[in-house]
Amino acid sequence: MVMTTTAATTTTTAAAAVDAPDARASPGASQAGGSGSWSSGLIRGADPDIRDILERALAEEEISERDARVLYAVPDADLHLVGMVADELRRRRVGDVASYVVNRNINFTNVCIKQCGFCAFSRDFRGETEGYMLPVGEIVRRAREAHDLGATEVCIQAGLPPDMDGGLYEQICRKIKREVPGIHIHGFSPEEVLYGATRSGVPVEEFLARIKEAGVDTLPGTSAEILDQGLRDSISPGRITVRDWERVIRGAHAAGLRTTSTMMFGHVETTRQRVAHMARLRDIQRETGGFTEFVPLNFVHTEAPMYIRGTHDNIRKGGSGRDVLLTHAIARIMFNNYIDNIQMSWVKEGPGMSQILLRWGANDFGGTLINESISTSAGSAYGQLLRPREIRRMIREAGRVPAERDTRYNILRKFAPSDDDDDNDGCHGDYGKAADGLRSCGDPAPADGAGSDGLDSADASSFGSYAELITISKFRYQNPRGKKQSE
Ligand code: SF4
Repeated sequence: MVMTTTAATTTTTAAAAVDAPDARASPGASQAGGSGSWSSGLIRGADPDIRDILERALAEEEISERDARVLYAVPDADLHLVGMVADELRRRRVGDVASYVVNRNINFTNVCIKQCGFCAFSRDFRGETEGYMLPVGEIVRRAREAHDLGATEVCIQAGLPPDMDGGLYEQICRKIKREVPGIHIHGFSPEEVLYGATRSGVPVEEFLARIKEAGVDTLPGTSAEILDQGLRDSISPGRITVRDWERVIRGAHAAGLRTTSTMMFGHVETTRQRVAHMARLRDIQRETGGFTEFVPLNFVHTEAPMYIRGTHDNIRKGGSGRDVLLTHAIARIMFNNYIDNIQMSWVKEGPGMSQILLRWGANDFGGTLINESISTSAGSAYGQLLRPREIRRMIREAGRVPAERDTRYNILRKFAPSDDDDDNDGCHGDYGKAADGLRSCGDPAPADGAGSDGLDSADASSFGSYAELITISKFRYQNPRGKKQSE
């Protein structure tokens, strides 16, 4: 243990601070470190433990869980070095492009048999008045509308209604693909896949094959929160277990279905649990290569049941600014050479922090969403839709090159600074490696409106809000004991 003594305080170094088994995320600031310029020795002047880790990271070496915990405890004087190294690794992996996807969330029901402590979205099926269930026809209509406005993806996730027909997910996908064949279905969390398999009476692996055949293209790696069974039992008893979560994800990757990966942080978890979560994801990625991205999701506490009810003495109100910055930067450093894309959540962080995160390891702005419900219901104030033109403006203000991507991170269009000033087609001269069949510079604009221009000019009120949705009588959930949830 190395001790640093100042006139006012005596503090341990970053490494010493992390060895307590219950070390919390975002510890208080300590004062140590060096000075100078990036090129002439900033790292050399840093806390020796921090310097060692950052130099190894820049040498493309894998950092350990303990290294990551040390970075979380970085002295304030060295804080920005972590961000600078993450930014450098981001530049090496993906360059100066910051991407986004034009998509729509379709959370087709908020009715759920589970009661996760962090979830303000779900409604009990036993008689709450705000439970809704969209008919399959309405789900398809929303997918078609999104596609007509330029969306390339629909993200379909929902609660777990009781007595659900195990074939519902397949039915939804088949009808979407029949009517909107060009749309990418990013659908069904591991929790939903497990529920669908259970309701269908088949193994997870068979259920994955069924929904893939029905049209699912990729899966959200949500319902992960923190992959620590004790913590899950505490904040969301009955939630999909760590073992089952990993089984579904590995099964999806084995079936050729790529997934995202996520982590919900800033609630009651320790730094150790958080870092172990990321290490588990890294181990999976080492074996399968199936993750497209990693998304840190900051806990939105305002309407979360476990916050309102005070069920945990040590609950936090989400990650602090320092914590959010470090989490994205450490993710970039931990996943270096494994997961190229680190996405920030504009819904949870807001526009200003999202821009800063593009300098702290993140390279992806996420999606336009159109109907964001989960964070909105939990109290997030950043809206349900971010238009493509607005995303591009924020990316440019952060000094990066905006590009629209598809769900698998193929770049569809890069945008020059002038592209949003007039009516041109938004095509950048340096086009990069577009996949076969994608639009390229010089091609005429698509006749069907594909591309994001439609969404830029659409009337947002036509999409409806979550607050409206839970009051619409025609979508009111009725416990369908013995009935199918279809049109
Ligand atoms: S997080 Fe998902 S499973 Fe848990 S209560 Fe909310 S909708 Fe249900």
